[in-house]
Amino acid sequence: MTGDGAKGVKQIHQTPSKIDPQSIKGFMAEDEGQALAEAARLAGTLGPVLEIGSYCGRSAAYLGPAARAAGTVLYALDHHRGSEENQPGWEWHDQTLWDEKAQALDTLPSFRRNIAAAGLEDCVIALIGHSPRIARHWTTPLGMVFIDGGHTMKAAFDDYRGWAGKILPGGILAIHDVFPNPADGGRPPFEIYRKALESGLFEQLSFVRSLALLRRLG
Ligand code: MG
Repeated sequence: MTGDGAKGVKQIHQTPSKIDPQSIKGFMAEDEGQALAEAARLAGTLGPVLEIGSYCGRSAAYLGPAARAAGTVLYALDHHRGSEENQPGWEWHDQTLWDEKAQALDTLPSFRRNIAAAGLEDCVIALIGHSPRIARHWTTPLGMVFIDGGHTMKAAFDDYRGWAGKILPGGILAIHDVFPNPADGGRPPFEIYRKALESGLFEQLSFVRSLALLRRLG
């Protein structure tokens, strides 16, 4: 390392995504992404950040640089076969993400291209697989967990049960698509948000649109 090494490290840590996260396919608004990033910059000082439901990498483009600034990494977990609502015939299906050979959705090539274009391959680590199966074998305590995976009741509760207990005291649990009013959207993310508060293990920090941020109590 040269004499100005510390300065160089500082500059690297402050480098944001090289592309606008909003230019990446996804379902996260700019102000939600900024709130996620701010939470990760704080909670990332406790331990790594993990997101469930990476899709094409939009939220990872917010969380990755924040994790790096905190001196840690983002684990971006997704089976990359799409959630229920992304399947053919459903509201959020995108035919351009269809893999003819596999006869299945495949968001991994887009995710990988986007993370490379964003200059985040050093701080975003893809975990490709089924969330509960990975959770079962995961032993590293986490500074922050962001749940944005499948929206069926089973998928949402599997993600909550699998990962909430791995968050360190003072760490953050973030949940996307939390709609207290059923008229605004599906219930499962709201149900796990309520479960987290009822457990006594978490306190509410803030809400940005449908993004709920909670803090793990000591
Ligand atoms: Mg979402």
